[in-house]
Amino acid sequence: MNRRGELDAIVVGGGAIGAALTLALARDEFDVALVEARAPKPWREEDDPDLRVVALASDARDLFEKLGVWSTIANARVGPYRRMHVWDGTAPGALTFDAADEGKAALGWIIENRLVQHALWQAVEAERNARLVCPGEVASIANENDGVEAVLADGTRLRARVAIAADGAESPVRAMLGIDAKGRDYVQRGLVANVTTARPHEHTAWQRFLPTGPLAFLPLADGRCSIVWTLSDAQAARVLALDDDAFRAELGAAFDFRLGEITATTPRAAFPLRLRLADRYVSGRVALAGDAAHVVHPLAGQGMNLGLRDVACLARVLRDARERGGDIGAAHVLRRYERERRSENALAARGLDAIERVFTANDPLIPVARGAGLSLVDRLAPLKGLLASIAAGRA
Ligand SMILES: Cc1cc2nc3c(=O)[nH]c(=O)nc-3n(C[C@H](O)[C@H](O)[C@H](O)COP(=O)(O)OP(=O)(O)OC[C@H]3O[C@@H](n4cnc5c(N)ncnc54)[C@H](O)[C@@H]3O)c2cc1C
Repeated sequence: MNRRGELDAIVVGGGAIGAALTLALARDEFDVALVEARAPKPWREEDDPDLRVVALASDARDLFEKLGVWSTIANARVGPYRRMHVWDGTAPGALTFDAADEGKAALGWIIENRLVQHALWQAVEAERNARLVCPGEVASIANENDGVEAVLADGTRLRARVAIAADGAESPVRAMLGIDAKGRDYVQRGLVANVTTARPHEHTAWQRFLPTGPLAFLPLADGRCSIVWTLSDAQAARVLALDDDAFRAELGAAFDFRLGEITATTPRAAFPLRLRLADRYVSGRVALAGDAAHVVHPLAGQGMNLGLRDVACLARVLRDARERGGDIGAAHVLRRYERERRSENALAARGLDAIERVFTANDPLIPVARGAGLSLVDRLAPLKGLLASIAAGRA
């Protein structure tokens, strides 16, 4: 904090993106406050794995290594996947990506969201340059000539050179700044559960495309699979209400019993799916990052990975500005971040949206493509490069 009691940065939202950014900035000797409305539930080894997991790509893992949290995560519970196998539920053809072809040990890692957040929070708490304000809710934010001021619901005032809103898909800060976010509601839910299968998951991320949307089985460290089943809102409500036996039978059939019968399941939860892209990432001295800036379909597990690339970019841009002796909240500094990230995030979001349209029955062209006997591989051809990049964590 400087002599005027001013911080370098305020980060709003302590999900994975806000916490990772706070840590990156604190490690770079910036004075930073992280404001989070709700304390996260702690991760404990003896608890059943969190139902929310992410497929982390290699560059996200590199960032966590650099921030010193990867060992905490890896020593706790991580499910590496070496292959990704994608196939169509209604037509022949399949695609397989193998880590060995890329000369890598793994294509990615399945990690519980709660563990990611836990590891990052522990590290933030140990940082002398970081101040954790939790519970703390940003009620208003105002740009001033030489700084930005956030007022919390309890009246606390924080002043900094720059603020970053990593306050999630509904981003109250984005609304306070009058930034619009466009996209579409998929009218779908991602139904999640952890299930036991008769056969081992082979450290493979499996994805079957059904007319309703993709069904993914992701390999957990304990031998079970975390499933993400895309269903229409109405179907999700019906499947959530099934008893466990009926759910196991229906899930096994939807997955074509690729790993045999589903022998056990945890309770289920479902999350609404949407595409949303903020019109701008910057307003004055405030920048958006993570889901506050972009929400994508989870079919290739990219949301958090894209947000972590925002983190790496922001940390680099702010560091460069300071090294040049400039104002870290200046418009040209934040615009550089916006230029680098907005187009890449939009490209990934639109690519995922195109894949979703190609596979679901919602697209009017699909019955024609199916009728013409086009295989999954044919229909995917224009998008195969994107899928390969996504599988390799380069999208
Ligand atoms: C079914 C499903 C599966 C997914 N699978 C994957 C995957 O495999 N791989 C992947 O990379 N991504 C995946 N994602 C996406 C990923 O979960 C998100 O992109 C990521 O968690 C977003 O993190 P975030 O930190 O931006 O936002 P959030 O985690 O939403 O955090 C925002 C935080 O801001 C806080 N907050 C909000 N308003 C305020 C305020 N006014 N003041 C203070 N704090 C505030 C909230 O309490 C919250 O803690 C998936 C998503 C879904 C729905």
